Amino acid sequence: MNKDEFDLDQIIDTIEERGAKKIGLQFPEGLRRSALKLTKKIEERTEAIVLISGSPCYGACDLDEFLLREVDLLFHFGHAEIKSRDKVTFIEVRSDADVIPVLEHAIKMIRGNRVGLVTTVQHIHKLGEARDYLLQHGKDCLIGKGDSRVKYEGQILGCNFSAARIDADEFIYIGSGNFHPLGVTLATSKRVIIADPMSKEVREINSEPILRQRYAIIAKALHAKTFGIIVSTKSAQTRIELAMKLQEKALKNGLEAHLISMNEITPELLLFFKVDTFVNTACPRIAIDDAALFKTPMITPVEFEIVLGERDWNQIKFDEILE
Ligand code: SF4
Repeated sequence: MNKDEFDLDQIIDTIEERGAKKIGLQFPEGLRRSALKLTKKIEERTEAIVLISGSPCYGACDLDEFLLREVDLLFHFGHAEIKSRDKVTFIEVRSDADVIPVLEHAIKMIRGNRVGLVTTVQHIHKLGEARDYLLQHGKDCLIGKGDSRVKYEGQILGCNFSAARIDADEFIYIGSGNFHPLGVTLATSKRVIIADPMSKEVREINSEPILRQRYAIIAKALHAKTFGIIVSTKSAQTRIELAMKLQEKALKNGLEAHLISMNEITPELLLFFKVDTFVNTACPRIAIDDAALFKTPMITPVEFEIVLGERDWNQIKFDEILE
């Protein structure tokens, strides 16, 4: 399916089957430009009133709770379900990019025999074809099941690399961006080859630059006396028990630590809290992706263990929400 083409018949059928009168639509930023066009089509073919969420949306963890209270049915686009909710229908978006040309390159970079395959939901329907290609070219191919936070075998999220915890010698990540393959290489200590069917780029991920950046931030946090421990109010990001455990650890170490609940975590909102370091228990990507934006260092729970001396520096990895 093309990014802007949703299965309208499926959407209309769902509305009619449920007898829904008020519909919510929620899109991540990259798909939001489709909102008005789709709304018009739904309104032409049904009697339903449509409310579009204009709030930021980062993942399936991030359902618009206001809309959920208001509407009979919420369509959440672009992500695979993390937790099922009665009123929510997830409409995944799949890429039609061909994976074989990038696999032809990637396979030449593979040194071992057992290759693990991981991807995001956008390319998940191509994993079978990718596995067949690798098998036909003499490689054993493993696809991990993952835990209950992921919907599909081989699927990884920015907060969950459980599908990569398999007995592979190295991995091929089918997809774009550095974050997911970095997470896999740090979680498994294995090589990860990125095969991006969209940009046609094939390369090995290098974790050195991000590790240097993280070590520098942790080194600053070593001098901190006051910590702000952030808890997300987004339903599938909330880790209040972890946050309380971290606070207890901080107090035991003679440090001051405050729990701060937030929906959107932005540098502007954090400016009000005069602490030396933030520990983020919300979406694990925030501390990494937005590191340069925060004036006060922000570390992950894993990195906080390093600060407290409970974890060796060389055991650093990305924070995960495992279920
Ligand atoms: S917590 Fe972050 S990485 Fe995980 S699904 Fe939500 S937005 Fe994505």
